[in-house]
Amino acid sequence: MSEITNEGFKNLGLSDATLKALEKKGFQEPTEIQRECIPLLLEKDSDVIGQAQTGTGKTAAFALPVLERLDASDKTTQALILTPTRELAVQVAEEINSLKWSRSITVEPIYGGTSYENQFKKLKKGIQIVVGTPGRIQDHLERGTLNISHLKFAVLDEADEMLDMGFIEDIETILSRTNDDKRMLLFSATMPDEILRLAKTFMKNTEIVRIKKNREEENLTSQYYCFLRESDKIEVLTRIIDSASSFYAIIFCKTKLQCEEIGRKLMERGYEAEALHGDLSQKQREIILQKMRDHKISILVATDVAARGIDISELTHVINFTLPSDGEVYTHRIGRTGRAGHKGCAITFVTSAEKRRFLFIRRTVKGEIEEYRIPSADEILKAKKERIEAEVINSLEKECGDYAGIAASLLEKSDAASLVKSLLRLHYGNDLDKSQYHTIKALDEKREKPRTGRREAESQQTFTRLFFAKGRNDKFTKRYLANTIIEECGVRDEDLQDIQVMESFSFVNVPSSVAGYIIEAFRDKGEGGRPLIVRARPEEGHKKSTSSMPVKTKKPSAKTRVRSRKGWQDEVQPYGRDTYDEDFIPRAKKKEHGKYSKKKKK
Ligand code: ADP
Ligand code: MG
Repeated sequence: MSEITNEGFKNLGLSDATLKALEKKGFQEPTEIQRECIPLLLEKDSDVIGQAQTGTGKTAAFALPVLERLDASDKTTQALILTPTRELAVQVAEEINSLKWSRSITVEPIYGGTSYENQFKKLKKGIQIVVGTPGRIQDHLERGTLNISHLKFAVLDEADEMLDMGFIEDIETILSRTNDDKRMLLFSATMPDEILRLAKTFMKNTEIVRIKKNREEENLTSQYYCFLRESDKIEVLTRIIDSASSFYAIIFCKTKLQCEEIGRKLMERGYEAEALHGDLSQKQREIILQKMRDHKISILVATDVAARGIDISELTHVINFTLPSDGEVYTHRIGRTGRAGHKGCAITFVTSAEKRRFLFIRRTVKGEIEEYRIPSADEILKAKKERIEAEVINSLEKECGDYAGIAASLLEKSDAASLVKSLLRLHYGNDLDKSQYHTIKALDEKREKPRTGRREAESQQTFTRLFFAKGRNDKFTKRYLANTIIEECGVRDEDLQDIQVMESFSFVNVPSSVAGYIIEAFRDKGEGGRPLIVRARPEEGHKKSTSSMPVKTKKPSAKTRVRSRKGWQDEVQPYGRDTYDEDFIPRAKKKEHGKYSKKKKK
């Protein structure tokens, strides 16, 4: 027998057969969750809850001990593994198959969307490890074609996702059909209360293994947002793709229809993309996923559901083409890039109507989300030229084989410069054609000259300087201060001007017409129920010492503001945002108290 080198796994108490399988699979060191769970599952008889980030090898953490503990000679179903999606069922079954090595243990995925006939046959013969989706498993239970009353293990894999997808009742029904003396294992990337509740009902003397997020891992994904119009999204997307030195990504969309459309548009523009969504047949989906894994395509356009649990590593980008519904979905989506030591980039598109929701998500998720600067067509072309040069230089080192003869003959017919140019055009086509980039509304507006004349006259507005009883010591930044007021009062970005954040307090200019309203809104929000915002005393907090208040500044009227808004990259902006949105203040509020009304307390 050849020497087994993977000491890390050996120390966990795994058999030689398993160590062989791991060697073959190329797993050298156990991941943290594996190191913690495997001995626990092998040595004890307790139920186990394992929590660790996506992509940390939770499958092997339960699959290896399950394989060790099964009785190969007993053909009844000894382990049932529930997964949220069919892809995941297939993936988990495959992983277990590759880990079982020479053991004669049968593993099969059982999921909806495929014929029952095949599944009946296999189940009749006896499947020792059934990996299935809750819906189809329940079907088989009702038909009496699956017996799960002699289980050694019941495993809920990606439990949080199963709950998200509304499988709770199915899971409860399925578990109620299992024997009491089985071991229950539950694996999940997150641990919401609902899971703990489920565990309490169905698990006994449970051990919980929690692996904290690795800080370094977290920072490997740079996060960006991009304020844009719906109609500019495709253009911005292509600019992102073209300016990246490599792009291997998932683009998240909301609906199947949108997936199809974006996928099609990308293909039309010559990108190697495919749409992945629930309307495709299982076969089609598997083909697409394999193409992605083989790098035959580099872009998957997917819905959240279709992308669940899909294990594609080393993504360079995740693009949120539509804003995720909440912070958890956001975190889940972007967690697919920046893994295992590779840098990743997550860019979230935000239209003006979605801005509030985005600001909310941004506050709930870890890490900074910075503004993405959309590259101009010229910048992209410059980057492309550099890449082409680099590619050609790199290829000089490769064997040219039969092309040498053609080269010699061509050089007799034409000069070197013309030949190189012609070959580049043949190879790269119209890659450097600037007209392929369409204009982006807000970028162009930025370049518009400021208007003068009548609008100047209209734009006189009185401002009041407010004192805000929090500052840098309270972790306040200009942006955070602006967001706090915007969220509470529904005022516009542009209404907040000249923000100054000091050590323990801050200042902000607001239109005098809304100053009273803002003060009122924060009346009891300070320390010990004191006012958080009051009128600044004259002279206070002004860079230039102004004599009295209110401050008179030039300010476009509400009517002209829409058109005179600055581009979002404008450095003049005090806190980096300026998107103006008519519907920014919810309608109900407008009606209730006029333009600025106090938010109702819950
Ligand atoms: P999770 O369920 O935690 O999201 P998976 O079990 O799907 O993660 O594993 C993610 C990927 O990591 C899979 O491709 C798996 O084969 C691989 N993997 C798991 N454990 C190891 C290991 N110890 N060494 C190397 N790769 C591993
Ligand atoms: Mg998993």
